[in-house]
Amino acid sequence: MHSAKSLTVQSPIELSSTQMQAWMERLIERARRFGERGEVPVSAIVLDHHGRCIGHGINQRELNNDPLGHAELMAIQQACRLRGDWRLNDCTLLVTLEPCPMCAGALVQARVGQVIFAATDPKRGAMGSTVNLATHISAHHRMTVIGGVQAEEAKEMLSSWFKQRRQRSDGTGAAPFQTDSTTC
Ligand code: ZN
Repeated sequence: MHSAKSLTVQSPIELSSTQMQAWMERLIERARRFGERGEVPVSAIVLDHHGRCIGHGINQRELNNDPLGHAELMAIQQACRLRGDWRLNDCTLLVTLEPCPMCAGALVQARVGQVIFAATDPKRGAMGSTVNLATHISAHHRMTVIGGVQAEEAKEMLSSWFKQRRQRSDGTGAAPFQTDSTTC
């Protein structure tokens, strides 16, 4: 039997393209800042159906030596903890890069209602590029996916990070890791 919570499911917020772009610009900027600390710059947030940010994450794989340390997983976990519920049907996840198979699988498991991403990832993207787990037969709920919001800006931010990393691999290595307590 379902709990009362799951009986009062709201729809995810409908964002205008201006609102989507504004959120994405903020996420790209945040990812860029963390990229300077040595992480592949990816940033994500979860919005509830009112549009309130209830979770945020940045890629912290290097910092924590954690292969699960992707931005989307951090954002989902934070949102679920805050709500005391693992179901996020009324929520929207925004992320600067198309989710990988691990994160796309987690988004399905968390029943996230809407996913909005910026740049596509032709090599690892699992929401249309290599596979589409949102519409895969194994996906047991309906998820709206919008890709390509501020895609050029996100792509440029990522490629300049990889370019800088190549330049730093001349012996000095990437910038040392630091902690930061920024919020969404
Ligand atoms: Zn991922």
